[in-house]
Amino acid sequence: MLNAQLHRANQNGISWLQTKEGHKVGDAIVLHGGYADDEDHWDWIRYTGASPKKDKDPKTGRLLRSQSWSHVDNAALLLSYEQGLPIRVIRGYEGDSLYSPHDSYRYDGLYEITEVRTATSKYPAPDGSPIKICQFDLKRMPAREQVQTQVERHIIDVLAELDGKQGEPDDGGQEDEEAPGEQWDEEKFPRSRSMQVRRLIRDTAAVKRIKNLYGGECQLCGLRLTGPDGKPYSEGAHIRPLGKPHRGPDVEPNILCLCPNCHVRLDIGAITVDEDWSIIARPDLVGAGLLPKLNVRHGHRVHQEYIRYHREYWERRASDRRL
Ligand SMILES: [Zn+2]
Repeated sequence: MLNAQLHRANQNGISWLQTKEGHKVGDAIVLHGGYADDEDHWDWIRYTGASPKKDKDPKTGRLLRSQSWSHVDNAALLLSYEQGLPIRVIRGYEGDSLYSPHDSYRYDGLYEITEVRTATSKYPAPDGSPIKICQFDLKRMPAREQVQTQVERHIIDVLAELDGKQGEPDDGGQEDEEAPGEQWDEEKFPRSRSMQVRRLIRDTAAVKRIKNLYGGECQLCGLRLTGPDGKPYSEGAHIRPLGKPHRGPDVEPNILCLCPNCHVRLDIGAITVDEDWSIIARPDLVGAGLLPKLNVRHGHRVHQEYIRYHREYWERRASDRRL
């Protein structure tokens, strides 16, 4: 993160830079399980400011005394709020297991600080007195305001060309799950095109990492598809889907490496996965040749909550049909 200049402060949660006028403004934060009062909900975050090292119990990581707005990191993040500057959010492997990478740090895009307050920590000081913390609420910025990577830009350009348009397409070229209050417009984006956009855009860095980890081997049936060039073909499937109404996140714990058939089986609820990773096929599914259990490799922390969401969603749909 330092080398990529996404974050400027080694071993600190809050990164800031100096403006031409000499003000320090926050530009990035790391979520790495540093404070018990932090909350991560993917598209919004409750973040605890910084304390000097001596104010933290080295064993438990709990605070020994209240935080201060005059701490340079907290003051910098407060100034970002006042000036409406976006903040880069980086998640580390010790953050919330619903969203965190397995053993590294991952840049997750731009957020804006929506609220700032002095709050009371859930945990008092060792002598029982309450501890005040500097608290920030952040909200993920909509997709159209996220800075695009080169690959995303290239895909958008190619699709615009295919569509006979020049340059900038509208919002359709981006992740559709991010724009609140906006429906996927079927008229503006005929089905074939929207499917194409979704599939292409879904091959994000997180999807690529999971596909590489399994070498293209399907986690549900064990199939490894290769063409004459020897390259495996697989798809990254989101257990809790990205689009509305599900709004699942595009993170490794929510992604499976699947063959195209199993991808469809997952997406239409022909199979679900049980708590012990057993694969449950619908009784009318014939000839699928599935593994008894979902194959999960070391380095992939599939999260039970997404598996449960998917299973319960399709169980509900099945029982609605029976009624
Ligand atoms: Zn498969």
